[in-house]
Amino acid sequence: MGRLEIHQLEVGLLQNFCEVIACPETGRAALVDPAFEVDRLLAVAAREGWTVDTILLTHTHDDHVAGLDEAYAATGAVVRCHPLEVEIARRFADRVEAVSDGEDVSVGAGRMRAIWAPGHTPGCVCWYGPESEALITGDVLFVGSCGGVGYPGSDPAAMVDTLQRKLGSLPEQTRVYPGHDYGKTPTSTLMWEFATNPALRADSVAAFCALKGVPVPG
Ligand SMILES: [Zn+2]
Ligand SMILES: [Zn+2]
Repeated sequence: MGRLEIHQLEVGLLQNFCEVIACPETGRAALVDPAFEVDRLLAVAAREGWTVDTILLTHTHDDHVAGLDEAYAATGAVVRCHPLEVEIARRFADRVEAVSDGEDVSVGAGRMRAIWAPGHTPGCVCWYGPESEALITGDVLFVGSCGGVGYPGSDPAAMVDTLQRKLGSLPEQTRVYPGHDYGKTPTSTLMWEFATNPALRADSVAAFCALKGVPVPG
């Protein structure tokens, strides 16, 4: 299993980050959350001579899939997302396949592991590269904050479990690639976030809900 190259691009008007992830050995590549300025993502792949055969989604809010139809039309890549997000993804692309929690998706000779991360939406996925020491967190975790839990389907208690138990079990040197450029730096590490991010330091549901200004679930 090889280490993957991760190129982060800020796109659109909502400070979104998209990624182009590539296997340098095989030239195979994946796009993450192609929402805006898809031409720029494709230009990175073209410049490097990479073939995009996979599209990974963290979730299907508009600002993460607005360019999925364009990216799919240009690449024919297989779209991978959580089962709960498949129906929305199919509005943009024909080839959508659900991933299960813990499933490794190949990117050339490397892999990205789907970590089911409910809370922001029921079907959020964080994509973890064990060899690449990288975690693409979408709207689950930002540098210095976390995603909202006031959306339809949001669940603050699930979010606390996702942040504390699921992300907390990954190696602390893992580099965090968030879905938006809302922090002081474009990326961070889990170690830094667990030490400084109020959303991770609020380790009970009550403390987390107080921080986010939402009612504590009954
Ligand atoms: Zn979202
Ligand atoms: Zn977002």
